[in-house]
Amino acid sequence: MSRWQVIDGLQIAIDGPSGSGKGTIAALVGAELALPVLDTGLLYRYIGWRAAEQGVSLDDENAVLSMLDRAIASMLWKPQGIFLKEADVEKDCTSQLRDENAGARASQVAAMPQVRAALLGVQRDIAKMGCIMDGRDIGTVVLPDAQAKFFLTASQRERARRRWSQLKAKGEDADLERIAAELKARDARDKDRDCAPLEKAVDVIHIDSTTMRMDDVVDRILNILERRKLIKKL
Ligand code: C5P
Repeated sequence: MSRWQVIDGLQIAIDGPSGSGKGTIAALVGAELALPVLDTGLLYRYIGWRAAEQGVSLDDENAVLSMLDRAIASMLWKPQGIFLKEADVEKDCTSQLRDENAGARASQVAAMPQVRAALLGVQRDIAKMGCIMDGRDIGTVVLPDAQAKFFLTASQRERARRRWSQLKAKGEDADLERIAAELKARDARDKDRDCAPLEKAVDVIHIDSTTMRMDDVVDRILNILERRKLIKKL
């Protein structure tokens, strides 16, 4: 049971670069407010993953576009993650989507305007009932009318360190320098693409979490929402 009363249809956008902690923060705020959370990166990861599964090269944009509608039709979003639905069988593919390769593939398909356009409707449909959404273009493109928008950052070094310690915690072999280089490449791709690049909305609240604990970031967000009368303590 949540300690908070939330206004009807509250939409909270949390944008930021890879490793800024937005996924963790969105999940913590979502749990606190009992709101569904959509990690939109998973949708792009799913498209890149599906393409790879079907032997489609991401360098061939036409080939990606020709599998796009079918891929979206067989994708099912649930608050627990992304499922592949085929012949009435649902398979949870969320953990496969979380690996570094899926992230790199996601940023390639995310630079394709038609992929973004196709996923826009999916995201807006999910957001209708109220939710927290994290991504790169939520405050600017997907939910420009969201009642609260946050832009989360942390230094590139700190973001790489966080990814490295997540992988280590999972028992994976992780190399900090390689992760830092990949992060830098992904940042550049996300910022420099023509279509919906990573940028701050004008009405966004910027939080730099480099030296903050995740709990403090959550408290800061809850304070802001409370001050704006979007949530109220019960
Ligand atoms: O957030 P995550 O690392 O899962 O995102 C994977 C990739 O998907 C990002 O590097 C970015 O290119 C893309 N993405 C996007 N727009 C979003 C969410 C993710 O372009 N709203």
